[in-house]
Amino acid sequence: MFHTSHIELNETALRHNIRYLKKVISPNAKFSSVIKGNAYGHGIRHFVPLAERCGVRHFSVFSASEALETLESLTRASDIMIMGAIENDELEWAIVNQISFFVFELDRLECALKMAERLGIRTRIHVEVETGLNRTGLQGDQIDQAVDMILKSADHVVVEGVCTHYAGAESIQNYYRIQNQIKAFHELSARVERAGVDVRMKHTACSAAALVYPETIMDMVRFGIAHYGFWPSKETQMHYFLNRDPENGRNMDPLKRVISWKSRVMSVKDVRPGEFVGYGTSYQTTRARKIASVPVGYFNGFARNLSNLGHVLIRGRRAPVVG
Ligand SMILES: *Cc1c(COP(=O)(O)O)cnc(C)c1O
Repeated sequence: MFHTSHIELNETALRHNIRYLKKVISPNAKFSSVIKGNAYGHGIRHFVPLAERCGVRHFSVFSASEALETLESLTRASDIMIMGAIENDELEWAIVNQISFFVFELDRLECALKMAERLGIRTRIHVEVETGLNRTGLQGDQIDQAVDMILKSADHVVVEGVCTHYAGAESIQNYYRIQNQIKAFHELSARVERAGVDVRMKHTACSAAALVYPETIMDMVRFGIAHYGFWPSKETQMHYFLNRDPENGRNMDPLKRVISWKSRVMSVKDVRPGEFVGYGTSYQTTRARKIASVPVGYFNGFARNLSNLGHVLIRGRRAPVVG
């Protein structure tokens, strides 16, 4: 009522995707549901309880503000991990709430260790190491300094993970770069462990990495796009279909779309051949057309670049967006 369109999340599809992806990663690796960017547009507050009903107990977010929204949405005792932005003045909140976070700045690590000591609560961290994405990640002797700081504060910290992120695992064009990153990661994580740090998990894989490079699965996979039912790229989809499990049926796509955006047709009219539809002259009928209007506009988030390009389903039948 009172909305011209709404979003539906399909719990059956999500359950199906998670079951399939868990099969891909074997029972020993943990499944983390990546819900950054407002759960890829699905809405953190709606998506989190749904994912928990489907068995998810670990969520990865980008920032402390997303972690707060996730914490408020939890219906189970799930873990929350911040992969990106956390400020020093947000550390106390994170530590008190047992939210883990990536560490890629020594200054942040120092603050976290001090805060944990002051609070008498262990801070749960993931040491992010630079392997070739060149975005965030400790590199060179920063890693040794971090290790020293961690060992000195061993009573105040739990190293939940050593981790990294790949530079485009969804495209075969990056194959060589990914191989180098995998090798670099093993060297760096071994360096941390050899120094005496007790590392709980090694995790590197996003959806594409887990689907295409099984050696990246390790102890946990951070699944984003795939668990929402989208292949990371045409290439990863091809990779699946070329190597598919024959038990899964010949042409069955194991990933099902979770989101759908629904509205109702508000008007239908017949338009004669040669007429223009909508603003300007971007669409002209070449024959008699039945034109339906749907009460959704750019203002609702329908992308302008889908003009004359997008499609809708009307009672399951595809119809092009015109004008
Ligand atoms: C976004 C992100 C992921 C998930 O990536 P998908 O390709 O959507 O599976 C995993 N790890 C990090 C660090 C990310 O930023």
